[in-house]
Amino acid sequence: MGTHAGLQQVVERVHAAERLAKRSPGSVRLVAVSKTFPAEEICPVLDAGHRIFGENRVQEAAQKWSGLKQQYENVELHLIGPLQSNKAADAVALFDVIHTVDRDKIAGAIASQMQKQSRRPELFVQVNTGQEEQKAGVAPVQAREFVIRCREQHGLAISGLMCIPPVNDNPGPHFALLRKLGEEVGVQHLSMGMSADFEMAIEFGSTIIRVGSAIFGARG
Ligand SMILES: *Cc1c(COP(=O)(O)O)cnc(C)c1O
Repeated sequence: MGTHAGLQQVVERVHAAERLAKRSPGSVRLVAVSKTFPAEEICPVLDAGHRIFGENRVQEAAQKWSGLKQQYENVELHLIGPLQSNKAADAVALFDVIHTVDRDKIAGAIASQMQKQSRRPELFVQVNTGQEEQKAGVAPVQAREFVIRCREQHGLAISGLMCIPPVNDNPGPHFALLRKLGEEVGVQHLSMGMSADFEMAIEFGSTIIRVGSAIFGARG
């Protein structure tokens, strides 16, 4: 098994943050965000033993990972970017976790594909905690009702909430809001924290962090 400097540094920082927050070791799942990086740059991270990866585009992920999944066993793929309903079939076929359920049309499309394909990816609802116009996700005030509709009308087991705080905000209040909403709707997972703020996210109770550039370097 090889080593990968970026991965190793992030793993050590995650462990330190878990200790500092008095969280049990290994309670935070690290998603290595490999979007825009070619297979040659992903292989060293796989060779170092990491198996959990995130992509933001269905098409790009399908192209890259069809080959990589034949080379490496037990890969767990996370969709962290917005999903169009015409890509729901491909997304359900490829991904193990979908972080970006945010409207009824998508929830319905995912539900029907799950039935058709007999696949059950883990599903999270994205919350637009900063209420940004251009950003995907349900508004915080609608999150509870949407999760209930997903469960009761679409028959989906929603097990987490996800957020991407506005780039120029202090992320702390957004993480706190997501945690509060998570407690209200009763989910196991909070997907929050990226390269710039994952330690703070762990302090606020994140169970899944999505880290790209701190592992792979800057995106071109
Ligand atoms: C790109 C991306 C990340 C990773 O961002 P870094 O700052 O490179 O760690 C995390 N989450 C989402 C939704 C992303 O699109």
